[in-house]
Amino acid sequence: MTIAFSRVMVELTDEDPPECRQCGDSVASASKQRVVSTVEDGTAIHHYFCSDDCLEAWES
Ligand SMILES: [Zn+2]
Repeated sequence: MTIAFSRVMVELTDEDPPECRQCGDSVASASKQRVVSTVEDGTAIHHYFCSDDCLEAWES
């Protein structure tokens, strides 16, 4: 869990509290965080998810 969290920390920004875009849970306490980066109006947006299930639900 420590290793997974450190990997996600690389993507975190200070002003963005990491909450799952799908269910709203804090991804910091999730065991399988996922981060998806998209570009909206020329700005990179990071979307955080607490699990693969939430990521897949959001994508569909
Ligand atoms: Zn979630």
